Formats: sequence, C-alpha cells, structure tokens
Amino acid sequence: MSTSHIAFLGLGIMGVGMARRLIGAGFPLTVYNRNRDKAAAFAGSGATVAGSPREAAGNADVVISMVADDAASHAVWLGKQGALAGVRRGAIIVECSTVTPGWIHELAAAATVAGCECVDAPVTGSKSAAAAGELNFLVGGSAEALARIRLVLAPMSRSIVHLGGTGSGTLVKLVNNFVCGVQVVAMGEAMAWLERAGVEQAKALAVLTEGAPGSPLVRLIAGRMTAGDFEPNFRLRLMTKDLGYALREARETGLHLATAKTAYGVFQHAIVAGHGDRDMSAVVEPLRAAGR
Ligand code: NAP
Repeated sequence: MSTSHIAFLGLGIMGVGMARRLIGAGFPLTVYNRNRDKAAAFAGSGATVAGSPREAAGNADVVISMVADDAASHAVWLGKQGALAGVRRGAIIVECSTVTPGWIHELAAAATVAGCECVDAPVTGSKSAAAAGELNFLVGGSAEALARIRLVLAPMSRSIVHLGGTGSGTLVKLVNNFVCGVQVVAMGEAMAWLERAGVEQAKALAVLTEGAPGSPLVRLIAGRMTAGDFEPNFRLRLMTKDLGYALREARETGLHLATAKTAYGVFQHAIVAGHGDRDMSAVVEPLRAAGR
C-alpha cells in the first residue's frame, strides 16, 4: 500500500498538516480544497492539485476527507463534482471529519453503490498533532478495510483504535468532544470568576491546572485564555457543531446531555459575539465581559 495513490479533500487547519505528512511519507498525493488558494500552496511541494473532488479521486486507491461538518462532507463526496462520482471501484474512502453517525451510514451506503468501502476515522489531537503525525484515529468499519489503509494512516498517527463497525469511530469522537466542550466552558467560567475575585491569578490557576481538574485540555486552554492567544487551533464554531451533533445523537438514545446543552448555549453566545473563527478558548471573552 506504500505506493497507493491518495486523494486528500480539505486543506483546513487539520488537512494541511495531514496532507504534508502523506507527502513526507512518499505517497503520490492529489489534493483538493474548495478555496483554491489553499490547494495551490501544495503545487510546489510534491502534490498534484485537482479542480474538484471528482477529479482528485479519479486515480486514487484511498480517498481521505477532512472537512468541516456533515454538509461539507456531503458536498465533497456526493456533490455533482463529488469524489464518489469519479472514484475507482475497489478504492477505500476514509472520512476523518467530525460528522454524525447518521451521515456516515448514508455515505457508507453510497460508497457501496460506487463499489468502494467506507471507513470513518475521525481524530483526536489538534493542529500541532496533525503537523507532527501524532493524531489518534478512532476507526469504524471492517477490519479488512482498516488493514488496507493502516500504512496510509501510519504517517499521520500516534495511535489507531478500531472501535467497531461503520459509524462507531464517529460516535466515540462525539462523546469525546462533548466531554472536551464542557471542560472548555467550565474553565472559561472559572477563569472569569477568578479574575473578578481579585485573587493572585498565577497561584489560583496553578491550584486548578496542577490539581484534580487539570486535564491536559484544561491545562492547555487555561494557558491560551491567560495569554489571550485565540489564534485558531480548533475553531470555536466547530466545537459548537460537535456539541450540537452530540446532543442530537444522545437524544436518539433517549439521553439528555444537560451539561452539553449548557456548553452549547455558551458557545453559541460566543459565536454571536463574533468569536466563531477564533480558537475555542475564546469562549472566555464574553464570559469576561458579562455583566460589566
Ligand atoms: P477548518 O480549518 O475550518 O477547515 C475546514 C475545511 O472544510 C476547509 O478545507 C474548508 O474549505 C472545508 N469546507 C467547509 N465547508 C465546505 C463545503 N461546503 N464544501 C467543501 N469544503 C468545505 O477546520 P479543521 O480544524 O481543519 O477541521 C476539519 C475537521 O476536523 C472538522 O470536522 C473538525 O471538527 C475536525 N477536527 C478538528 C480538530 C482541530 O483541532 N482543528 C481536531 C480534531 C478534529 P475552505 O478552505 O474552502 O473553506
């Protein structure tokens, strides 16, 4: 599989790093991005640039998508110029975006009609992990399909966990991001409260970040909130999307995620306040301003 031709769709914050890892590993690569300027930057770095997902998929053994959400995924796979219109029978299609299990099942059915097999492989790890090839892939699909793409995922990954059948990687990713989203909002509220209380910030924050609440995410986010560094690693609007998907998905099993609902509302408020394309840690900004 090391000479497999790969098509990569979506060169956002994550896709850029992942595609570069594939080039570095020597895979023949064709890239596509909706905004062509981002794809053009790859032309001199060993990749072929395609004008549509359909064109990109034309001679690929493995087609990978890393785009924003269900709508974007639908567009790159099933749009008029979508990848499934051009893909070869026998290719494996890999959806790495954080989407819904329902959409993954639709996509897998469309892939079968096109003579392909679908693997859902969303990731944990952010911009720096994508650039360093240290993502954790959460895989749903057949063991046989995963075996065929393992060498392709390897240069992008620190771990590859096979969670079960189609959609199971995507489901676990939504559970993961629900817990992350709630933590980010809790840290934002804690930060705003400590700032108002007038206690010594560095000492107070160390109690949290070095104590029981100090998850890797809370530590990272607390640093960004303190520094006011909201350059996007993970866009706030995408975390909001994930919480919305988690709420819907859990509701289908009869479960009401009360903490996710609250966090979703806080993030939505931050989008309305203009922070949607900043890092998710910017959720602290409207909390800092509230009631002032
Ligand atoms: P991003 O920087 O916002 O990039 C989004 C990508 O999706 C861009 O390539 C964008 O194209 C494309 N896109 C959006 N709408 C589209 C449409 N309708 N048709 C075609 N392409 C469309 O996002 P990202 O951070 O790379 O995230 C990508 C995915 O990974 C998301 O599902 C996200 O939830 C997930 N994820 C992100 C992180 C993270 O830390 N950033 C971590 C794990 C998982 P344009 O350039 O043309 O806008």
